[in-house]
Amino acid sequence: MNCRPHCGACCIAPSITSPIPGMPNGKPAGTPCIQLDEHFHCKIFNHPDRPNVCAQFEAVEYVCGDNRSQALETLNDMETATLPSIFFKDKS
Ligand code: SF4
Ligand code: SF4
Repeated sequence: MNCRPHCGACCIAPSITSPIPGMPNGKPAGTPCIQLDEHFHCKIFNHPDRPNVCAQFEAVEYVCGDNRSQALETLNDMETATLPSIFFKDKS
């Protein structure tokens, strides 16, 4: 599928551990990337300092869904499902 205009969900919901210009330690989940502009476009799309993880991510229906809200929800679920176990409370 083609990336949906004015979405930017994948630049907000996931955590990114690679350095991003202006965010040297990457970004936490749920925080908009500092390089995301007001139209939800990447300001450094063709810049060599754009993280590889961004360049490798492609729009796919099972992640992006039919709208921005679905994408945010799915990406948030994926983020939670892949958190290291240290972040989960011990229920024993
Ligand atoms: S979540 Fe999907 S549709 Fe939305 S900006 Fe990212 S790639 Fe594009
Ligand atoms: S660097 Fe660009 S593509 Fe990567 S998360 Fe930030 S705004 Fe999105």
